Amino acid sequence: MIVADRKPIQEILAMIKADKKILILGCKGCVTVCNVGGVKESEILASTLKIARKQQGNDIDIDVRVLERQCDNEYVAQIKDIVNDYESVVSLACGVGPQFLSEMYREKKFYPGVNTTFFGGAVQHGIWEERCAGCGTCSIHDFGGLCPIARCAKSLLHGPCGGSSKGICEVNPDTICVWDAIVTKKMEAGEMGDLMGVKAFKDWRSARDGGPRKSIREELIQGNI
Ligand code: SF4
Ligand code: SF4
Repeated sequence: MIVADRKPIQEILAMIKADKKILILGCKGCVTVCNVGGVKESEILASTLKIARKQQGNDIDIDVRVLERQCDNEYVAQIKDIVNDYESVVSLACGVGPQFLSEMYREKKFYPGVNTTFFGGAVQHGIWEERCAGCGTCSIHDFGGLCPIARCAKSLLHGPCGGSSKGICEVNPDTICVWDAIVTKKMEAGEMGDLMGVKAFKDWRSARDGGPRKSIREELIQGNI
């Protein structure tokens, strides 16, 4: 899933400036699962903004809607009859949401209410960790099922670096050295030979380095599925 954090309230207040009527637009996708952009969080943000603006002596009228997803134009179109009732919209979806909104409703102002951070999952209640950097050519099978691109601070494909110490990464002492974990797993499996030798260069054009990416499924476009 995509993991995000809600922006600080002062930052959202600065974005909406003196707008008098705004819409908080949540999303039932990933941001609901990571507790930043669902129904509950949208309503909490609306209340917090109302109180803050009241304290400034500048009352604001705020409504809340939550779409099934904001990364799908079918759902984004569902606000077409109400969007012009508002001066601006604060989207609590990942960074895709406010862009889909901005593209569909070109004359309106959409503000990102969250900071989109990474692809990951919950390792315990309230803690999410990064697992994937979306490189476009997954090769974790070469590394014991662990991703050195997303999880090594230096994205090393031949690790560990000289700073790995007692299983901890030198860049962030709160993080395991994933290369230590890869080597340990391979040693336990008696497969250290897999890590020997020099691997072929990775083709980074499938990652962000090749510019914005597109996924095309001809069978869906043709309507065969
Ligand atoms: S190798 Fe690439 S696609 Fe696979 S988990 Fe790592 S970043 Fe994600
Ligand atoms: S200590 Fe490990 S995880 Fe950290 S940068 Fe070096 S190899 Fe990567």
